[in-house]
Amino acid sequence: MSERVSVVVLLFVFLASCCTATATTEDPSYELSPWPYGAIAWVGGAPSDAQTRSETIAQALQDVFSFWGLPSPELMEGWENPAAVEPAWRTGATGPVPQVVKKDPPTDTLWRLNPLIWEGVETYPMLIIAFPTRELLAQAMGSTAWGGVWIPGNAAIPGSEVWYQGMTGVPQSISVPYQDAAIVTWHEIAHWLTYLVCLRERIYMGWLPDLVVEGIAEYTATSLVGVDGWKQYAASWAQQNELTVDLGVFDTYQIGLSVVAYLVEAKGVAAFWRELHQWIESPEAEIAAIETGWRDWLQDH
Ligand SMILES: [Zn+2]
Repeated sequence: MSERVSVVVLLFVFLASCCTATATTEDPSYELSPWPYGAIAWVGGAPSDAQTRSETIAQALQDVFSFWGLPSPELMEGWENPAAVEPAWRTGATGPVPQVVKKDPPTDTLWRLNPLIWEGVETYPMLIIAFPTRELLAQAMGSTAWGGVWIPGNAAIPGSEVWYQGMTGVPQSISVPYQDAAIVTWHEIAHWLTYLVCLRERIYMGWLPDLVVEGIAEYTATSLVGVDGWKQYAASWAQQNELTVDLGVFDTYQIGLSVVAYLVEAKGVAAFWRELHQWIESPEAEIAAIETGWRDWLQDH
């Protein structure tokens, strides 16, 4: 796989104006617990209902995969009891799997998590970095603009806190607030699903246009939550604007969502995935090919 690491984030537009990072003097610690598809790091410590919340996040994963008619990744063998490994193991690691995560900073134990298998593709297990509040998430990321993040590769978000960079220094993670934020969780897990489909189809997800990547995630999340206000927005937007690959940030999500919804509903899921490589090869031609059909479809909705 390419060395290039992409960071895919969700813009949380409608909350951006009301979030204010709370200043604290100490870095929060975290507590790890096993999770069927990897591990969960509870920032600030595991809540009393951690078990229920953990099951809810696993259910969110299954919701996203079944929404697309796809199986969930196979459960890791022995996931309830991850193996402790010596710190030196990390430096000797090669290949795509497994993933090593660090247990509570005070104990400094490392866990080795087994790989996940999905549709014959071997991939990293997922570290869910679960924040108790959006405010703490915003503080960690150094920005109130994002509601969550899926990070394939041990990338650091520019401007993020050092302690948070230490947590994302694993091959794959999703950061979400765990209170009242199912739509964010679905959105970020949909990025992971897209990544796996791209692995299966042997295409590089980082070369897909943002409108397709974010459109897939927003289409998934809004469908699962049952929100369809985007249809009206897209229809009125289409009366004033031409469809292009380079939309502004807000429209990358909202118009991308309408494009993906149109393609999936007009052509079917299998054709949509099959034609992903065309979006990489010639996104402008793809836009030109679908624009009329997309406009007609919006009129009918
Ligand atoms: Zn996103």
